Amino acid sequence: MTAGVYLHIPFCKSRCSYCDFATDIYRDSAAVESYVDAVCAEIDSFATSQPAIQIDTIYFGGGTPSLLSPFQVSRLMTSVREKFGITDEPEITMEMNPATVTPESLAGFRDLGVNRASFGVQTFNDRALKLLARGHDAQDARNTFRMLREAGYDNVSLDLIAGLPGQTLSDWESNLDEALAMHPEHLSLYLLEVHEATPLAEQILSRRQPVPDEDLAAEMYEMMLDTTVAAGYEQYEISNFSKPGFASRHNTKYWRLEPVYAFGVSAHSFDGRERYANERDTAKYVEMIETQGTAEVMREEIDTASEFAFLGLRLNGGVDLDEFQRRHGNGADEKVTPLLKAKLLEVSDGRLRLTRKGMLFSNEVFEKFV
Ligand code: SF4
Repeated sequence: MTAGVYLHIPFCKSRCSYCDFATDIYRDSAAVESYVDAVCAEIDSFATSQPAIQIDTIYFGGGTPSLLSPFQVSRLMTSVREKFGITDEPEITMEMNPATVTPESLAGFRDLGVNRASFGVQTFNDRALKLLARGHDAQDARNTFRMLREAGYDNVSLDLIAGLPGQTLSDWESNLDEALAMHPEHLSLYLLEVHEATPLAEQILSRRQPVPDEDLAAEMYEMMLDTTVAAGYEQYEISNFSKPGFASRHNTKYWRLEPVYAFGVSAHSFDGRERYANERDTAKYVEMIETQGTAEVMREEIDTASEFAFLGLRLNGGVDLDEFQRRHGNGADEKVTPLLKAKLLEVSDGRLRLTRKGMLFSNEVFEKFV
């Protein structure tokens, strides 16, 4: 089984109001440089087996990795290449935000092997972009997408968020229409989640923004299923849609419980048996790497039966029923029968899957397996 490598780049131009990721404001390239030094040192000290672990995906996530210079990306790629065996034709993804790249930086990333862009548009509505404090407008998103195509990126994923405060069904339809008119190879369409202690949560609590309407969000979800499938996309995961052959190879590893080795602040790794995570604060992460050579703060053996179920069920292909029963033993029927009766799960061709209704209430389904 080939593994993946994830590199977390925490810097952003500004902080979005809904974000609860481990991110820092991009201040100067010196701070980024010392962070890159630390990530390279972490990769260099990673204990590998012999022969080297083979990987077929590399993912630069964040944060906004497209704020790195091509030189910084090349340093990280060199460390990865020295430590891991990379198969032919790896998928190398970089998350990019509007107005954070130039034709030169895009060409530089491509020369280094980046062949997939995960592009964070979120919405084409300028009022909503302001409310989310995204730090760019819709025209920036259009311009950057054009730049990506001109630079030869032929595997682009576009992210949109549904259920924004004040967003109507027809606003959402316009967003979908504009995204589909750009013909990206992949779409990640998420329902807004309001995380505690974010500025957005505070605005909702203090009634400066409306409470998200769950029924409307459900209608938006139904609309995105119908619209994307009619436009020739395949839904392969609850929130992910692709043209044939363009499903994210890296993200699919998480849902299939395949190993992903992650480096950087707050990075979470899974080696096939244990999950482990790094420190969440960037300055502390750098200091820990410099003084101890590791920034690991958590390690646990996972409950593979539970994770096999709730991660695998996110995929449209679902999970193999025999395998599910083998992993869950006597408790399998007890967990599944009520969900089958409630039409949240179904069995077909020997596989257990979420129904369309189950996708809408997926959190309730997954709770049964935790
Ligand atoms: S760009 Fe992404 S990672 Fe950065 S603050 Fe916004 S939501 Fe968070």
